[in-house]
Amino acid sequence: MNIKYIGNDTKKSENGKIHVQNGNYTGCGARIDDNPQDWVKTSQSVTCDKNGCKN
Ligand SMILES: [Zn+2]
Repeated sequence: MNIKYIGNDTKKSENGKIHVQNGNYTGCGARIDDNPQDWVKTSQSVTCDKNGCKN
């Protein structure tokens, strides 16, 4: 299961970008559990191109 960012903090991630989930972090290192309402699980393909999500 991947995870989509639906928040508006552009320093954290772009709205709508889909990442690999790795515990409380994305594969590329963005923290999920400090603002869990900004993230939603999805079965859509990863669109993040950073290391850890892309590979
Ligand atoms: Zn990512």
